[in-house]
Amino acid sequence: MPVPPSIASLPSRTPELGALLESWANINSGSGHAAGLARMCAALRDEFARAFPAATITEIAADAPGFNPPGVKALSIRMRPAAPIQVLLCGHYDTVFEADDAFQQCRWLDAHTINGPGTADMKGGIVTLLAALQAFEQTPHATNVGWEALLTPDEETGSHGTVPLFRGASARHNFGFVFEPARPSGDIIHSRKGTGGAIVTCRGRAAHAAKIPNDGRSAILGLASYLLSAAKVPAELPGTLVNAGNIKGGTVATNVVPDFAQAELDLRVTKMSDREPLFACLETLAREIGAAHEVKFELKIWLNRPPKECLPAEEVAFAEWQRAAADVGVAPFTWIHGGGASDGNFITEGGLPNLDGLGPIGDQLHSDREFCRVDTIAPRAQIVAFFLHRVAAGEIKLPSAAFHAT
Ligand SMILES: [Zn+2]
Repeated sequence: MPVPPSIASLPSRTPELGALLESWANINSGSGHAAGLARMCAALRDEFARAFPAATITEIAADAPGFNPPGVKALSIRMRPAAPIQVLLCGHYDTVFEADDAFQQCRWLDAHTINGPGTADMKGGIVTLLAALQAFEQTPHATNVGWEALLTPDEETGSHGTVPLFRGASARHNFGFVFEPARPSGDIIHSRKGTGGAIVTCRGRAAHAAKIPNDGRSAILGLASYLLSAAKVPAELPGTLVNAGNIKGGTVATNVVPDFAQAELDLRVTKMSDREPLFACLETLAREIGAAHEVKFELKIWLNRPPKECLPAEEVAFAEWQRAAADVGVAPFTWIHGGGASDGNFITEGGLPNLDGLGPIGDQLHSDREFCRVDTIAPRAQIVAFFLHRVAAGEIKLPSAAFHAT
């Protein structure tokens, strides 16, 4: 099957796509910055409305009090919702860089590489998604495939306001595509760890530090002992990660045996079956160390994003993905496990097979060194568009959505 002209010619759009990415990345849209998110949402809406006049664009409230600033919106752009095959394409438009962050503007590192907030994670992915759909729309069998682009404002803080949207969208599509950046090697993602956390509170007994003998019980020493042990848990339970992210405790006066200390942990699991052993291990440690130090632990522990485990239908699709990549001239790449979570985790939980890491090549995410290789946007979009063209032509069979609600 030849590559249709609209797909073959995508690389000629590189300067224009780079300029679009620069304009979007120059809009501060940190997850907590309501006004910036609203500006970004409006910019996306304008661009997609211009690109797809026949699409239905809906702004959906994504309020999650305590997690999202009030009034944030997700954008759903839908084309041909009655077509026999339905695909979901996802991108988040928030970044980790807040309104007062020093990292605000883009800078070109060379003719092909842009440094700027969200250039790779993941406004570059949204540019890729847009360009892919524009090229796909001009292919001869496009009417067989309906699509939804779901663009969300809260991925970096855990997608608390948009989880229901991913669950709902998972139920009405045959396959999903997540445009988080590709790895510097070009590799995409087949699975991701699930993420969670714990708040560990330690309560001891206050006493004058110089009292002899001393009947105080230090909450700080108890917690320190707990954290040292907790850090060793991943060695016993491979596939899990435990990171002590912060710690507080004690009083202003240092001559007091402190009766309070608290830490927050970041927890990760590779498989859903890792969850119970990890939680049990952390609970056991609390009991044992509590007894040894004569302190009391309270553990609040949760999993936010479930792990994204690789599904059989994704293995079939990945072989086709590689074939499409070879046909449009993209250098060979493979797929790998990623420690970080994405909204692909929720889509998998919703039962929808999906490929992740489909955006352009970039690196140094969540730092002021973040960059995107702009010359990889068009080639990555070509893979998407050519894969969808083969789906539309009936050459690639996506899994049935029959078990999903419609
Ligand atoms: Zn991120």
